[in-house]
Amino acid sequence: MLKRCVHNYVLSNEDFTSYRFDPIPAACQDAAMLYIEPIPAFDDNYIWLILDNERRYAAIVDPGDEEPVIDYLQQHQIQPVAILITHHHGDHTGGIQELVAQYKIPVYGPAHEHIPAMTHPLKEGDQVTLKELAAEFRIIDAPGHTHGHILYYGHGQLFCGDTLFAGGCGRVFEGTMEQMYQAMEKIEALPDQTLVYCAHEYTEANLRFAQVAEPDNGPLLQRIKDTQALRKQNKATVPSLLSLEKQTNPFLRCRVESLILTAEEYARKPLTNPAQVFATVRRWKDSLD
Ligand code: ZN
Ligand code: FE
Repeated sequence: MLKRCVHNYVLSNEDFTSYRFDPIPAACQDAAMLYIEPIPAFDDNYIWLILDNERRYAAIVDPGDEEPVIDYLQQHQIQPVAILITHHHGDHTGGIQELVAQYKIPVYGPAHEHIPAMTHPLKEGDQVTLKELAAEFRIIDAPGHTHGHILYYGHGQLFCGDTLFAGGCGRVFEGTMEQMYQAMEKIEALPDQTLVYCAHEYTEANLRFAQVAEPDNGPLLQRIKDTQALRKQNKATVPSLLSLEKQTNPFLRCRVESLILTAEEYARKPLTNPAQVFATVRRWKDSLD
């Protein structure tokens, strides 16, 4: 069985970009698990570093900014081996050029989007092998937030960019509601113990909406309490467990009676399939953001 590896990160002060990492619990030093480090950027982005067990090499996920990444790599004497990109938005790609200029590393990204300096375009079913990390990730196509968004799944971990968030999902900018719903279904099909590494700390606001959509969801009320407690201590709420998302994230609950009922009330008409429920709930949240 996969050991749980959810640990939290402590801010040294009020500034989001000065997160400190709690010591890694022994349970996380499982050889099958990779070691994941968050680098906070901008107001609420997480740039994820995927490290080998000895923490000598790293892959960089969605570097929107190069500066905090370079600082971290230099400070810890880590050699970057690859950049993994989920989608083309600037807060996920803005640091690529500088990192490539400095380190000459390959850039993996969505085949259907324009990504600066991309060397390895990827699509559904492709496999990324990172030798130095002894890591392999499978690519899942997840259009919706953008038209070519991809997810990286491997070692019980999902790097999902702006597709699924803790307690919510990304806005549907370039794809269709139907596509985004299909992306939710693909994520739902992954094992419950999957750790979800999304790219933003949006959890508290997401859960406020989740409570509007499902006021009587017990696990959700508990998650809101837990999340508020973490945020009060300036700790990250990411990664989260997929099993918790399935219990509390409305966008993964489009087949659940309690959500269907409130979505129908909001839509003022019967909704005949889960994709319609998804589209309704997504529009509902958009109207309140
Ligand atoms: Zn985005
Ligand atoms: Fe983003």
